[in-house]
Amino acid sequence: MVAVLHAGRKGLLDGVLQNGVARLKNDYGISASHISAAIGPAIGPCCYEVEKEIGLGFEQKFGGGVIKNRKEDRVFLDLQEAAESALAGSGVAKERICILDICTSCNRSFFSYRRDGVTGRHGAIAWIEE
Ligand SMILES: [Zn+2]
Repeated sequence: MVAVLHAGRKGLLDGVLQNGVARLKNDYGISASHISAAIGPAIGPCCYEVEKEIGLGFEQKFGGGVIKNRKEDRVFLDLQEAAESALAGSGVAKERICILDICTSCNRSFFSYRRDGVTGRHGAIAWIEE
């Protein structure tokens, strides 16, 4: 089985990934220990500067590693690390989590509302190969 989940800043805080892992278990009998996960491209901590209070909320929920740089009233947030923490907290083994280290703001192959001020659409395709 393949599941594709999308979570931005609000979705991560709202538990989209934890809910997805729970649904795989409850609806399909798939244990978190059998899940392999790939965390796709996202705006990186190099570019994702947010208000300090938002960063503190993430830090409380996902640990201090999600904040990569601190200014007086702003922080640089690592959404992919927050996603990894959410999955690991749901029982997915860290060695089974792969993070694609691609910042959608630095890499101009991707849309970035934060970079360009206009939105676009990304797609994802997932499949199982045997
Ligand atoms: Zn970047």
